[in-house]
Amino acid sequence: MTENIDAAIDSELHKAKVKKPQPTIANPQVTRHIMKTFNLRAAKKLGQNFLIDAGIVQGIVDAAEAGPGDRILEIGPGIGTLTQGLAESGAQITAVELDKKLPAVLAETLAGYDNVTIVPGDILKVDIMELMGGKPFKVAANLPYYITTPILMTLLERHLPIEILVTMVQKEVALRMIAKPGSKIYGALSVAVQYYTEPEIAFDVPPRSFIPAPEVDSVVITCRVRKEPAVKVKDEKMFFRVVKAAFGQRRKTITNAMKGAGFLAEDIQQAFGKCGLDGGRRGETFSLEEFGHLADAMIK
Ligand code: SAM
Repeated sequence: MTENIDAAIDSELHKAKVKKPQPTIANPQVTRHIMKTFNLRAAKKLGQNFLIDAGIVQGIVDAAEAGPGDRILEIGPGIGTLTQGLAESGAQITAVELDKKLPAVLAETLAGYDNVTIVPGDILKVDIMELMGGKPFKVAANLPYYITTPILMTLLERHLPIEILVTMVQKEVALRMIAKPGSKIYGALSVAVQYYTEPEIAFDVPPRSFIPAPEVDSVVITCRVRKEPAVKVKDEKMFFRVVKAAFGQRRKTITNAMKGAGFLAEDIQQAFGKCGLDGGRRGETFSLEEFGHLADAMIK
């Protein structure tokens, strides 16, 4: 009996020893080698900047608190750099990639991982709820910068069961996401992100951490999704219509900006009368709570 167990252990140890070690993709030499082998050129129009720093990959994995039992949606796996780090954590990874050339590459670079599913497609078009089986999940991504805002808005507005979003974004976008009322960079993105989540900058990422190096600084930002939105409103659609109107013409007073966006002057006046806020202020000075009161007052 003992002999059998010993033999089984020996066999497993042997298998583990001969299993081909997976090279870490987050490394300049390995990345260049993969790109050369598959004749890849980073496509600028797809926002392709591949991570080459294993410390940054680990930082994202840690910020997402990724581990066994987690289900993670990755957007844009590229050649598998971040995907590998996430997969090493033991989590189940579903990665959506738009570039048609990459699934074949990923099949090789991630060959050693049976906890990764690559889904070819456009993250703005796939049915994310169906893809993730309707169960809670996390998002981790080094986002393509040309569509950062549409991706974030898609993920947030659909009320998906997301626990946390850990994304690499342009530093300037991250600062807008955390901006407070009264600041020049406070806008519709700040309100939406702060309405649904608690955003926090995790760490800075310099251009040299990518191939090719982007022309902008980057940061990893963590957005923990709130159980309930930051303010309770009667109608979320109205709330965001008012917010978008207010920032559509941000140099005007909120009253004029709302008129410009098609709200009736009479309705606006009545709403300000009801909520007690000053319609002569600019929208960029309104807090989330104030936008909430105004939106509620716009409902008859
Ligand atoms: N995750 C890789 C890394 O960290 O090295 C690559 C990140 S690169 C900044 C962005 C990736 O998103 C690219 O692989 C690009 O092809 C992909 N991508 C661009 N637009 C996309 C879309 N609409 N849907 C899914 N993936 C997209």
